[in-house]
Amino acid sequence: MSECLKDIEREIMNCRKCELWKYRTKCVPGEGREDAEVFLIGEAPGKEEDRQGRPFVGNAGKLLNELLEIANLKRGDVFIGNVLKCRPPNNRDPKPEEVESCSPYLIRQLNVVKPKLIVCLGRYASSFVFDLFGLKFDGIGKERGKIRKVKAWNTVYVLPTYHPAAALYKPQLKEVLVEDFRKIREVLKKDTLKKKTLLDFGIE
Ligand code: SF4
Repeated sequence: MSECLKDIEREIMNCRKCELWKYRTKCVPGEGREDAEVFLIGEAPGKEEDRQGRPFVGNAGKLLNELLEIANLKRGDVFIGNVLKCRPPNNRDPKPEEVESCSPYLIRQLNVVKPKLIVCLGRYASSFVFDLFGLKFDGIGKERGKIRKVKAWNTVYVLPTYHPAAALYKPQLKEVLVEDFRKIREVLKKDTLKKKTLLDFGIE
């Protein structure tokens, strides 16, 4: 029987596969529609996300909501998750072993939702997704805004862009994010193909 997002969420809630469980207030499995066409991926929960157990609820989340509106989308239309489900202390960078332990949850979520478009927010999420699909990642500065097409459960589009939090520190990046989020509309206009051919990501 195929799994659902709730099954994965239950496992995450009890997960102790890496040391980050010791520091979390709440884990942040991600949230959104099980049949979303757009799946947004960030790096890891921040302070406010850890407090509330929800992704992108701090200032970066407010900006993300604005950006989604530019794409004619609401939070309820999409799925939003992170590569790591627990907050690294003081928002430090994820360690490779933490990504290795945690990322199977994200891959399983992708396999349930089978989105048409994956929006990668920031260099960590982008480099992870590029690796997953065997794409070469040349850094977020070069890759942002370029839409890639990959074969997974169906034709899937991958759009790397900056993390909204980056625009809080460098306001000039907001324009770049707006430009990238406008492209989401174009992708969604393309013919929707039936979501049926599940790619084997190496996950049983
Ligand atoms: S970060 Fe991921 S692997 Fe580590 S304890 Fe949290 S849910 Fe488990």
